[in-house]
Amino acid sequence: MLQQENLPILGALGISDAVCRYGEQIAASLRPRFDAIDEIAEYNQAKVLAAMQKNRVNAGCFAATTGYGYNDVGRDTLERVYADCFHTEAALVRPQITCGTHALAVAFSANLLPGDELLSPVGRPYDTLEEVIGIRESACSLKEYGVTYDEVALLPDGSFDYEGIRRKIKPQTRLVTIQRSKGYATRPTLSVQRIGELIAFIKGIRSDIICMVDNCYGEFVERIEPSDVGADMIVGSLIKNPGGGLAPIGGYICGTKACVDRCAYRLSAPGLGQEVGANLGLMTALYQGFFLAPTVVAGALKGAIFAANIYERLGFRCVPNATESRHDIIQAVELGSEEAMRAFCLGIQASAPVDSYVTPLPWDMPGYDSQVIMAAGAFIQGSSIELSADGPIREPYAVYFQGGLTWTHAKIGILMSLQKLVDAGLVNL
Ligand SMILES: *Cc1c(COP(=O)(O)O)cnc(C)c1O
Repeated sequence: MLQQENLPILGALGISDAVCRYGEQIAASLRPRFDAIDEIAEYNQAKVLAAMQKNRVNAGCFAATTGYGYNDVGRDTLERVYADCFHTEAALVRPQITCGTHALAVAFSANLLPGDELLSPVGRPYDTLEEVIGIRESACSLKEYGVTYDEVALLPDGSFDYEGIRRKIKPQTRLVTIQRSKGYATRPTLSVQRIGELIAFIKGIRSDIICMVDNCYGEFVERIEPSDVGADMIVGSLIKNPGGGLAPIGGYICGTKACVDRCAYRLSAPGLGQEVGANLGLMTALYQGFFLAPTVVAGALKGAIFAANIYERLGFRCVPNATESRHDIIQAVELGSEEAMRAFCLGIQASAPVDSYVTPLPWDMPGYDSQVIMAAGAFIQGSSIELSADGPIREPYAVYFQGGLTWTHAKIGILMSLQKLVDAGLVNL
């Protein structure tokens, strides 16, 4: 049913009746899928709640600490909550981890020594990791420290190249990195089940290889996480899913005690490890964000599915497509031109609560080798669990759309992106 009474207020935002009508038609067709997403959110809500209750989270956990941060109960309890929720022995959850790339860099450099090899069996990792690894020359890369790297691409149909992987596992292979989300590639995102199959295969060849999963954008999309299917470490950013939109900074590494201990020594200093690191008053946001994360992720997922259905029916290739099952919150839409990318991003920006009046332009972003356009009007700078869209200016001119703290805001953002494409004459409804 078309929400007739909503048309005037959406019109005031700049969304035409035609775009609204098209959107309502799509939204109505998605109700059964949205119900299934709500069921997963309920499951994950209970999982987070149980972990908080088990660890007796209390008002004292929200107290700010400064300086060294010895005996920081809030920080230590939060780490127990993450570990219990993700079913791992240990967790490192810190505002001192500045972003996802930092968390991944810590996990790598803590667990790889000179002479060791890092293997990616799922193709080239996320852009910013190229400099961490040394695929692109960079000071302080793993390569500079004598850690080598090899990779095996996915097969053209998106499946694992098991024979290729077997050949590339060498005596010096120490750590395998598996990226769950597609990142800025148009390969499929991996389901947790598939990640489990890959880990079982690798452990079957050599059980001492550390299997690490870059879990960015995947948390709470399914009922289980890669740590439930054998991953030794899962790693992510708190300004994505698990921060629930409230964490102002941070990253996490959950996994075996052996791996996480090393990460803590790398992050702070050998001998200090997890004992130092003041929480600086950020605990309420980190706890409350984690508490809200299952619901926020559900809203973002609905937005992603809505976007795929809006754009696929207009003839744009979408990855995942309109009907596929979901394993992360990212929606790639191949728009085919820089002009269309700019229009799409303008719409996302124009529907933001913050900085709605600015025009996103492509720029040379540190860590990326093509120009990148980014649209985000977020409460937390760079937060991509908030409504945002970005993409490198290169073939196939795909925008990666993600986030939305609420489904209703994601919906308005997508309608606005479509409006800008219509206004630019790039789409006819
Ligand atoms: C976002 C992301 C990263 C890097 O995280 P930043 O917080 O941007 O540094 C790494 N891997 C994947 C798959 C990501 O989506």
